Amino acid sequence: MEEEQDLKEKCLLKTRGLALGYRNGEQSTILFENLNLSLCRGELVCFMGPNGIGKSTLIRILAGLQRPLAGEVSVSGNTEVAIVLTDRISGLSMSVYDLVAFGRYPYLDWRIQLREEDKNIINRAITLVQIKHLENKKLYELSDGQMQMVMIARALAQETPILLLDEPTSHLDLNNRVEIMNILRRLCRTANKAILIATHELDLALQTADLLWLATSEKTIHTGIPEDLVLDGSFDKIFQFKGFDLKTGKMDHETHRGISIQLHGEGFEVLWTKNALERSGYQIQSGASISIELIHENRALLWRLKKEKLLTSYYSIRELLKGLSALNSLHS
Ligand code: ADP
Repeated sequence: MEEEQDLKEKCLLKTRGLALGYRNGEQSTILFENLNLSLCRGELVCFMGPNGIGKSTLIRILAGLQRPLAGEVSVSGNTEVAIVLTDRISGLSMSVYDLVAFGRYPYLDWRIQLREEDKNIINRAITLVQIKHLENKKLYELSDGQMQMVMIARALAQETPILLLDEPTSHLDLNNRVEIMNILRRLCRTANKAILIATHELDLALQTADLLWLATSEKTIHTGIPEDLVLDGSFDKIFQFKGFDLKTGKMDHETHRGISIQLHGEGFEVLWTKNALERSGYQIQSGASISIELIHENRALLWRLKKEKLLTSYYSIRELLKGLSALNSLHS
């Protein structure tokens, strides 16, 4: 009973028997049905699924912007929801600061004056997303990626317990993608927010999410922590990766050279060496007649290639691959 009460307080948004889709005259397309999902405080959820499966539609329904076909979305008490959509917004001659300030408008009184406290919140959001240098720019001057950061800052300025984001990192470069996910993660922990991010970025989701919602082709959503879903094959079933093994994070490479190599050494350098060798068509096997040893020498790293009496050292994997190629053409 106590546990139930805990869950009630912790989980801010719930769906019951939710069905969503589109009606077009007589016809209706159902995207998902009978969804019973919860979004809880302190949890970052990544919602994953192939394009067109219905991620944006569900986000809009959870935010109350669209009606479901059946079932309901309940939000605890008068909890507010902030949403970041991918659509570009109008009013492009507005400044970045003013757009972020818009996040505070629901809280202002009839004078529509920003209070000191509002200004602090706006500045905090701008600083957090690291867009201080953009604050006086007009929206039409921004790149898609910068616009995305601004939209995230606006949602943060709303200071709502629930944050829903639809593909928030799609236009960002790797640095900013990681940064945004880290900011959201931190917010989730420190401000105890419930955050849902629709994304198709597998790598980021696997590393950031506390929980995944995986959209399946049976119109349901499978939930679990990333590691469990990788190991139980749920991902493979939904995404049907071709030539990629998610459990090992490896691509399948054809060992087209028919040459085996034994590899010795320690640390992540060995993993990357193995990666390069396998991509280049070599097979890693103990007891092979060619051996490569990784050696740390005076802070430098070198690769020592040995075949019978021949011994050569290389200072990069690229050089090593060239050396191997030359060695094999010599002996073939
Ligand atoms: P995702 O976000 O996973 O890419 P969407 O929710 O955008 O998927 O779309 C899911 C499906 O619903 C798509 O087949 C899309 O064409 C359809 N759809 C989206 N919006 C509408 C709409 N307003 N009217 C009719 N069909 C729509």
